[in-house]
Amino acid sequence: MSLHIPFNNSYVHLPDRFFTRLAPVPVKEPRLIAFNAGLAADMGITPGMPEDMAQAFSGNRPPEGAAPLAQAYAGHQFGGFSPQLGDGRATLLGEVVTSSGQRLDIQLKGSGPTPYSRMGDGRAWLGPVLREYVLSEAMHALGIPTSRALAAVTTGERVYRETGALPGAILARVAQSHIRVGTFQYFAARRDVPGLQALFEHVIARHYPQADTPADLLAAVIEAQAQLVAHWMSVGFIHGVMNTDNTTISGETIDYGPCAFMDMFHPDTVYSSIDARGRYAFSNQPNVIVWNMAQLATALVALMSDQDAAVDAFTQAVHAMPDRIHAHWLKAYGRKIGLSDATAEDEPLITGLLQAMAENRADFTNTFRALSDGGARDQFLDPGAFDAWEAGWQKRIETEDDPARVMRQANPVYIPRNHRVEQMIAAAVAGDFAPFKRLLTVLSDPFTPQDGASDLTRPPEPAEVVSQTFCGT
Ligand code: AMP
Ligand code: MG
Repeated sequence: MSLHIPFNNSYVHLPDRFFTRLAPVPVKEPRLIAFNAGLAADMGITPGMPEDMAQAFSGNRPPEGAAPLAQAYAGHQFGGFSPQLGDGRATLLGEVVTSSGQRLDIQLKGSGPTPYSRMGDGRAWLGPVLREYVLSEAMHALGIPTSRALAAVTTGERVYRETGALPGAILARVAQSHIRVGTFQYFAARRDVPGLQALFEHVIARHYPQADTPADLLAAVIEAQAQLVAHWMSVGFIHGVMNTDNTTISGETIDYGPCAFMDMFHPDTVYSSIDARGRYAFSNQPNVIVWNMAQLATALVALMSDQDAAVDAFTQAVHAMPDRIHAHWLKAYGRKIGLSDATAEDEPLITGLLQAMAENRADFTNTFRALSDGGARDQFLDPGAFDAWEAGWQKRIETEDDPARVMRQANPVYIPRNHRVEQMIAAAVAGDFAPFKRLLTVLSDPFTPQDGASDLTRPPEPAEVVSQTFCGT
């Protein structure tokens, strides 16, 4: 049987200035290294022979029905505005609509230069492709909205980066859309109101059918992003590059670059080598997403007939966002300590634990999981710090029905620990994909302890610590 993708494309029918139609640039010797059969089945995709799929997902032979294009967008990168970014190393192959009516993009990342590549080569190397594959699938299994990985191929070509020549690769990823805050900014920066209006109409039909007005859209995106970032905070995830071009309108996590899950808890944790000032540090993510929503609001103002009134209303909506994030944060962290419906009164209990964890170099994931499974005090340099907190906690959870069950559903056993991700990449570069497959398998069921996988719960030894992650573009 040969690969069949039931394309049903919509973005390509938007005005020409939204994108550039172009085919992916062929690669020398594509080889399929991963295919997500479960996701493919949900998408109505019929898989083909590996050779066939390597040709399709490398872009060498786009599947029938594809309408490849590179999307135009703009964005604030580390606070500075670039009016012209766009898919510089990605092509949207097209979209499918699932049996449940969900429209999904299929995009190839690393598919060669486009008119938006600027100085870049349009390519990706194997490391970031496998990192995004594993982290996005882990995020999905954690129940957090995210782009997903459909397939990965190696290209048989070398990619040159600071560290030298590296094996090239391409990721086929799937998302509800790749429309970003920066897509709205692209048209707003050009004062292209008809373009902005067409984008607005496409977006509400696609993502927020209950929305009628730009104000409704802003409110919906703010709520989706408030939930998303609170969710990230509840699993110790640091995105690393929360630029407005990496912030989706759908509320999905996208563009896994120098991202990481924290081992030892500290609110100031930063991994990205390019984030020297900690703009995108763990605890700053709620502030940054509010700033990003203010940029979306600014772009949407151009659609309003009474712009002064719109500025007032949109400003209010943005100013209300921190409370929304906090409300989601409180519920999520409440569940992490066994409270099915935490209230403001419970907040000191939560922050008290986090402070003790930070002071005692406690592992984020293992400490929370140990609250239900035992051994939490051993996570603290000074176990007495836990004992002091525990007394108040025990008293509080007496009134809960089944706190252990609530905690086991909120606190994963497994996260993609950075040192394991780096070890997996090193093995793959040397030709061994077994650690990659193993990580994928274990992380697909992160809340259930699995036989023979306890090594994946272990924080890094001093020699294994990965203190920096790289965009690796
Ligand atoms: P990022 O912050 O990695 O999502 O990328 C920011 C911008 O740089 C986007 O427009 C990307 O398409 C572009 N870009 C990143 N890496 C490359 C590359 N290797 N070649 C061309 N463009 C790139
Ligand atoms: Mg990006």
